[in-house]
Amino acid sequence: MSHRFTALSKYDACALAYRYMIEGRPTLDAKIMQDGSRAHDAYFRYAKHCLDTGNPTDLTAMPAIAAAVGIRPHGDLYCAVIESWLDAGHLFPRAEIIGIEERFAIDVNGNSCAPEALEAWLAGTVDVLRTWDAPDAARIVDYKTGFDSHANPLQMKIYSWLTFAQFPHLNRIACEFDYTRFNVQREKVFTREDIPAIEAQVHAIVEAIESDADFAASPGEHCQTCQWRDTCEAKPECVQAVITEMDAHAAVEAIGLLSRDLERQKDLLRVYCTENGPVAWNGVVWGHHAQGDDGFDDPVVFADACHAAGIDPWEFLSVNNTKARKLCRRGLWPEALQNALVNRRNTAFRSKKEVKS
Ligand code: SF4
Repeated sequence: MSHRFTALSKYDACALAYRYMIEGRPTLDAKIMQDGSRAHDAYFRYAKHCLDTGNPTDLTAMPAIAAAVGIRPHGDLYCAVIESWLDAGHLFPRAEIIGIEERFAIDVNGNSCAPEALEAWLAGTVDVLRTWDAPDAARIVDYKTGFDSHANPLQMKIYSWLTFAQFPHLNRIACEFDYTRFNVQREKVFTREDIPAIEAQVHAIVEAIESDADFAASPGEHCQTCQWRDTCEAKPECVQAVITEMDAHAAVEAIGLLSRDLERQKDLLRVYCTENGPVAWNGVVWGHHAQGDDGFDDPVVFADACHAAGIDPWEFLSVNNTKARKLCRRGLWPEALQNALVNRRNTAFRSKKEVKS
């Protein structure tokens, strides 16, 4: 049986979700997944266009390419996943591209084989494989078009392993996740010495799958985006007191499932309200209520209007801290303004995604 990263990753997150996938249970029509495959298709066609024409870049070609895969030029999706990707300055010089959308596979012993071969045991498709900083080095780029900017590092390991097997002359591989909506890139470098640990990790997951008898649910925050969240049979079991670590684990699972069910109820009610109008019941009115108000988008326009009216704009203006935080994170905050930053950190009781190595 040939394994793919997506299946192994699914099992890693929730064995029940893996079982649903293997059983072929229908999934939710996840728009985000359709958008993602369209965006990937557009990136692939654009890269191929550059390679075919011999131009490392050709921005003018993208609107037609996007339209051909169903992304309306300059529409919302285009701005979110195409324009931001183009803005990042992706280049595809023929001499630097080893392959695009290349499917690699290995047998159970880690030897390269054809993806369609009977002995294919682990397979994956690399978005872009390009030369790097030395003849024995290469760079894998994997585009992530969703909203999650912390993809599973297991994917990087598996893709590096597959690529090492395919190209015996490589000794170093930089694996980059490119989160195209945010123009954020995260990279990890692997060497051949890393292969035994990767191999052990992947074999451990496969063995766990093969010896699993009940495929129990592992609920958590991932339930809210699970493709089977509307039909999953796992029910929340709330704990009455959290005293031991096991109680705490049970609470985390219950919160995951309760949040899933809350979102599901809201989705159903949203559809009803869209068709039938607001619902007033038990003292609340659910529906599509107007929000927002008149305001200024451009601080310069606002300041000019204040000056024209003889009003001091500083009484109304505030610094955009979200933007400042982004610039700091990217190392783009001007050095001269370093001392102007004030510590605004506090704590919030919430969950956040666990960062796996
Ligand atoms: S909804 Fe949660 S518990 Fe159910 S299959 Fe999906 S991830 Fe697992």
